[in-house]
Amino acid sequence: MLPRLSLTELRARLAARECSAVEVTRACLDQIQRREGQLHAFLHVDAADALAQAEAADTALRNGVTPAEKPLLGLPVALKDNIAVRGQPLTCGSRILEGFVSPYDATVVEKLRAAGAVLLGRLNLDEFAMGSSTETSAFGPTRNPWDLERIPGGSSGGSAAAVAAGEVPAALGSDTGGSVRQPAAHCGVVGLKPTYGRVSRYGLVAYASSLDQIGCLTRTVRDAAVLLGVLAGHDPRDSTSVPEPVPDYAARLDGAVKGLRLGLPREYRIAGLHPEVEAAVNAAVETLRALGVETVEISLPHTPYALAAYYLIAPAEASANLARFDGVRYGLRVEGADPIELYERTRGRGFGPEVKRRILLGTFALSAGYYDAYYLRAQKVRTLIRQDFLRAFEQVDAIVTPTTPGPAFRLGEKLSDPLQMYLEDIFTLSCNLAGLCGISVPCGFTRTPRLPIGLQLLGPPFGEPTLLRLAHAYEQATPWHREVPPLESPAGG
Ligand code: GLN
Repeated sequence: MLPRLSLTELRARLAARECSAVEVTRACLDQIQRREGQLHAFLHVDAADALAQAEAADTALRNGVTPAEKPLLGLPVALKDNIAVRGQPLTCGSRILEGFVSPYDATVVEKLRAAGAVLLGRLNLDEFAMGSSTETSAFGPTRNPWDLERIPGGSSGGSAAAVAAGEVPAALGSDTGGSVRQPAAHCGVVGLKPTYGRVSRYGLVAYASSLDQIGCLTRTVRDAAVLLGVLAGHDPRDSTSVPEPVPDYAARLDGAVKGLRLGLPREYRIAGLHPEVEAAVNAAVETLRALGVETVEISLPHTPYALAAYYLIAPAEASANLARFDGVRYGLRVEGADPIELYERTRGRGFGPEVKRRILLGTFALSAGYYDAYYLRAQKVRTLIRQDFLRAFEQVDAIVTPTTPGPAFRLGEKLSDPLQMYLEDIFTLSCNLAGLCGISVPCGFTRTPRLPIGLQLLGPPFGEPTLLRLAHAYEQATPWHREVPPLESPAGG
């Protein structure tokens, strides 16, 4: 079945003329048609536009264009709805951007187009990527393909669910505190957050600019390596992107992992960790040891302060970034007697409760008299957290943790308790604070209900080649990435 194949497998079939790009895109569109009633992973699909792109890819294939020239030729990729595609809606899951159409392509979109990808549609997310469940989307939640009563994770929940459900072989998301890795863990797919500065943020709607990074959700680590190779690189339009050369990630996947050193951070053995998650991660560490990886206990002493620092810095940056949505420049406009009333009404009606909470938190943390006590102190803690990691990476090549403290929770379970929701990010957000790279790979399932568990591997800045090699070796030694959600199995129809 075409929609279940990886990018790499589809590319081989296209090259061998066993199927056409139009057939691949049509198979994805059919699957979307079958599944969307239950899942709601997509906010927008333009089938005619996707098929036109696929036809152009078929022409290029017939003309002998090679994968070396266009590594994603004819392969469908869908985008989180906070990444700009010219001429398409860009909602960020918010009413405030209702009706807004992007006038330009994000740099990653230009790169996907240049690589020959077929852009398949826009994926659901928590409003402005603020959340861990996709429930704060103004357009309704996405459901987890493994259990429709549960959340797919967030904020890139639409991206993870669509890949897991066979609607598209790969998707882009954004990760500010875990939004690629956490939904990947909950949906049983691979989620890669590149090093800060590795991928251009131009055309990604900013949530917290010093933490945001575009990442990818795929079915295999190899696909993540292929996609990162397309997305990575310096961009003069994003001054925080870094002019580091882009290695051939896919070509470097197969090297040995024997002798690599893996750090097990003492501070991540928290009370409240779900016992089956703990057991699955311990088993994964054993698997890695059997592959010749050496394990070392390490300490990241400032870990307990990461959550508090993140929830000051991210809202502070968000409160500044979201000031631009004023009813004048973008999307929704609710008229008022004067400009102030217009702003108030537009923002009052346009933003949902979680976004308002973040704006209030952030504005407070930045206000005169509180700046030193909150924002400045959080920035100092951030530096200490980064130093913890850089010190640890002098000893080890990668660090291993669970991706999430537990499996996917029920819809509605944490929505009214923001702190519980924030605790979902406890293992993922330090990576963003420290500017590292990280990946989540499937590492098992809970028993009843049967829900995916994610293993997180963290690497030093620009350590993606080794990180991907390690994740790939683990994946190849285990069966988890081949599992298919029940609704996709032949019996599930
Ligand atoms: N859940 C975290 C938050 O709400 C992370 C979100 C993200 O990475 N975009 O901030």
